[in-house]
Amino acid sequence: MAISLFFSAGIYQLASRELSRGYRNQVGVIEDDPFEVPQVLQQRLKDSRLALIDEARSSLLTSLAMTNLAILVLGGGLSYFLARRSLEPIEKSHKALERFTADASHELRTPLAAMKSEIEVALMQTKLSNKEVHDVLKSNLEEVDSLTRLSDNLLSLARLEELDLNFSKVSAKKLVDESVKKVSEQAKDKSIEIIVKSQNKNIQIEADRNLCEQVLIILLDNAIKYSSKKSEVVVNIEQNRSNVNIAISDSGSGISKEEQQHIFERFYRADSSRSKSTKNGHGLGLAIAKQLAEKQGGSIAVKSMVSQGSTFTLVLPKA
Ligand code: ADP
Repeated sequence: MAISLFFSAGIYQLASRELSRGYRNQVGVIEDDPFEVPQVLQQRLKDSRLALIDEARSSLLTSLAMTNLAILVLGGGLSYFLARRSLEPIEKSHKALERFTADASHELRTPLAAMKSEIEVALMQTKLSNKEVHDVLKSNLEEVDSLTRLSDNLLSLARLEELDLNFSKVSAKKLVDESVKKVSEQAKDKSIEIIVKSQNKNIQIEADRNLCEQVLIILLDNAIKYSSKKSEVVVNIEQNRSNVNIAISDSGSGISKEEQQHIFERFYRADSSRSKSTKNGHGLGLAIAKQLAEKQGGSIAVKSMVSQGSTFTLVLPKA
């Protein structure tokens, strides 16, 4: 607006000066007239020129004022639109951060509140048997384990952005075997057998070994957690022209179509998982797994039917 007003004033000054100069020239021509134009006619000619010049000035002033008004309205509207557009992502990320903090606080408070009430109830009793003390401590230990897992997951999420990736050729079968070994305790507790099948033994992927193992452990852990006792989890390794697919199938609770759209969101847990206290977790595993897979140029796909089971497929680039 300032630039426009500055130029408008300049244009007006310049044009006014030119008009006055033109008027002076014309007056000169009228006065030096060789045909001796009568005085009265000369005055009338001068007056009509002056009136024309005034009219031209005021019309120039109006045009400049209208132009400036249009610039003000259009510029203002455009600035508002552009400012809104550029602020939108900031607003979105701000809201996401707020939601994340609220969810994290909620997840932290739940086990803390459970521990507090158990301790308070225990303290109110004058005499506690050994078994009661044992039960309170055991329950508190479970909550502490849950808090430790939550803080580990939150740390993993926070570090995702600045991860140093270490890409190398990795044997898919070896990687799966090592990951299976790490969840063997959980599988044994529920008498679940993990069967690994590979299209051939030499399937190689181009990935960060540690991150890949982390993803597989999350998927295997979920497959065990959401399966019933004495069932099977099958890991199938296949390759196509450009990718290696590692599919982890269970015959557990399954996930509805509606819930499948949200399971990769942070802190999302299906209602059935929330209600069953035995299936501990905070809804962060799949969000972490997805980001870790994407960091390595891969992805995770899910196919599932309620009560029939789920297949999570980790897709990674072939070496
Ligand atoms: P958590 O397991 O800690 O709840 P995740 O992010 O790993 O969090 O999983 C999100 C949700 O997806 C779980 O709460 C559960 O409802 C669902 N889910 C994940 N894996 C499976 C599976 N193999 N079978 C059934 N449901 C699953």
